[in-house]
Amino acid sequence: MKGCKYGTHRVINENVLPQPAYKIDNNMEIYDNEILINVSALNIDSASFTQIEEECNHDVEKIKNKILEIVNEKGKMQNPVTGSGGMLIGTIEKIGRDLCGKSELNVGDKIATLVSLSLTPLKIDEIIDIKPDIDRVEIKGKAILFESGIYAKLPEDLSENLALAALDVAGAPAQTQKIVKENDSVLILGAGGKSGMLCCYEARKKAGRKGKVIGLVRSEKQAKFLIENRLVDTAVVGDAQNPNEVLQKVLRSNNNKEVDVCINCVNVQNTEMSSILPVKDEGLVYFFSMATTFTKAALGAEGVGKDVNMIIGNGYTKGHAEVTINALRESETLRNIFSKLYV
Ligand code: NAP
Repeated sequence: MKGCKYGTHRVINENVLPQPAYKIDNNMEIYDNEILINVSALNIDSASFTQIEEECNHDVEKIKNKILEIVNEKGKMQNPVTGSGGMLIGTIEKIGRDLCGKSELNVGDKIATLVSLSLTPLKIDEIIDIKPDIDRVEIKGKAILFESGIYAKLPEDLSENLALAALDVAGAPAQTQKIVKENDSVLILGAGGKSGMLCCYEARKKAGRKGKVIGLVRSEKQAKFLIENRLVDTAVVGDAQNPNEVLQKVLRSNNNKEVDVCINCVNVQNTEMSSILPVKDEGLVYFFSMATTFTKAALGAEGVGKDVNMIIGNGYTKGHAEVTINALRESETLRNIFSKLYV
């Protein structure tokens, strides 16, 4: 039997797409246009993992139970508070009859799904390990990719964990490459995080020698690290939840000028105004953070009379997996940092 290519046939009791659905059918019997994946690890979205960790007082057993509870209830790993998911890696176990020959995938291929876990039918048999430092959950389980689902075959020249870590945030560096122009001044909030560092790298490449990349981080240590590794031109230590502080410090680091572009890569709420205030009129704000609120951004910009363009961080942009993997191939610095932090 053929299902809807967007997966609506698996939505239970609602007339919506699988992502906003409360519950989806995670029966692992596949339709003719679905792909079955034998899952080895989940990379939980950072905003989601942070929320779960806090709710469970950083107790790993409680985090395990919470994840199982969510997946058993919703048929997918969608954090009920943040609404966000993450992505997974696994091996192709079965390809639906309609996709055989059409898909470039073969049984046995190792892939990372690039659609969110918040819409992916998932069944967890066992949680083998949780690595809280890198938001990773190793499991025994199965998942389903819909016909419209995007994925990346895992590259052979990079380790699986490295690829998984980078692909999780692939939308951010690829969008950065598209929006940053030569000579731009670019502010990156959360510059020391996973997506932050990848964005710094792409922004510096695009802005060029006359451009300026300013990284906002929380500690002097992170600031020093980013500068020493030449990921930013300058770093600002501040709290992204304090817009006045951010504005003053960014102006100081940019010859008293507002920046052309701001990219928000933090994983906490209430950072909309710190992204908007330092940007010049007709500049651009790119909200990659999943903790962004549309209302706060829209009303906030209006409230301070800022005519800025705002982009919602679509996790997907054409070629995003290639851009991200290539950044790791090109930059030994990034590769070393990611290998140490995320493996
Ligand atoms: P990450 O590695 O955890 O990085 C987040 C960074 O934000 C960390 O460096 C953290 O600093 C910093 N930060 C937190 N609170 C801060 C504050 N008050 N002031 C300044 N910096 C602060 O996260 P990630 O994996 O890069 O993900 C970043 C965001 O992107 C998350 O919200 C995630 O949910 C979202 N995301 C979006 C998509 C999409 O499709 N749009 C896809 C994947 C992820 P510390 O290290 O000091 O805590």
